[in-house]
Amino acid sequence: MSAPSWAQLRARLEAMGFRPSKALGQNFLIDPNLARAIARDARLRPGERVMEVGPGCGALSRELAALGVRLRAVEIDRRLVELAREAVAGAAHAEVLRADVLAGKHVLAAEVLDRLPDEDPWHVVANLPYSAGTPFLVVASRLPNPPRSMTVLLQRELVDRLAAEPGGRSWGPVGARLRLLYDVAVLRQVPPGLFWPRPRVDSAVVRLELRSDRPGPEEVRAFDRLVDHLFQARRKTLASRLGLLVGGREAAVGLLGELGLDPQDRPEDLDALVFMLSQQPD
Ligand code: SAM
Repeated sequence: MSAPSWAQLRARLEAMGFRPSKALGQNFLIDPNLARAIARDARLRPGERVMEVGPGCGALSRELAALGVRLRAVEIDRRLVELAREAVAGAAHAEVLRADVLAGKHVLAAEVLDRLPDEDPWHVVANLPYSAGTPFLVVASRLPNPPRSMTVLLQRELVDRLAAEPGGRSWGPVGARLRLLYDVAVLRQVPPGLFWPRPRVDSAVVRLELRSDRPGPEEVRAFDRLVDHLFQARRKTLASRLGLLVGGREAAVGLLGELGLDPQDRPEDLDALVFMLSQQPD
């Protein structure tokens, strides 16, 4: 079946009485060339496993299914599930599931987890909804078998957080967490006019690739605890925040000195050094 034009899809949505939900981040891609380009950006091979969050009307799902990947798409809005299913109809290995991808801020939905491989590689490709996008990326990255790559379209502000350098305004726990495990590359800018409805801000496609030299699960857990703790009060000095963890300010100053860090630095000034701290013995 040939792909419906955006005008045709828009007419379908109107006939359904559909009003896009801001809370669900419903800004649909209206340019099939862009959807195709994002699917290509993901560098997938036929047969590879792919999770798409929020297929919406299926613009990206259609392009992914055409690559012959094993696609699992998860859409929260039951009004859209039928459209997404139509977009991948005929593809042998594509499934559209109706579910909230998250079962809380830190957990994926059980039916989503059931569909992820325990060991085989898998990938994420999505035009992510604003509110669920960041929690999803962090939760997916902390799975025992995290995605090998995540190629996602995000609002510029979130992309800035992922690509931020320490010390900048956008540097924070999300960027720190994801960059611990992933190399991050911004691939293309996407202006508001390529979506319906038009968002107020620019977006960009970013690709996260799982690092082969990443730390193990124990170190990641220690790192996350430390990041939580330090960024709860990012304007406080390292010495005062770390002091609460290691039994006092004096111990913290000693530890920071050993690492060549200034106790007056703030969490927002740190990069990989946060990781070094997480590996210090008790
Ligand atoms: N992929 C489509 C496209 O590119 O045109 C739609 C992208 S739109 C930015 C985000 C989609 O995510 C919407 O279809 C929305 O209903 C869906 N969504 C929002 N929150 C979700 C959640 N928690 N779980 C699954 N889907 C969600």
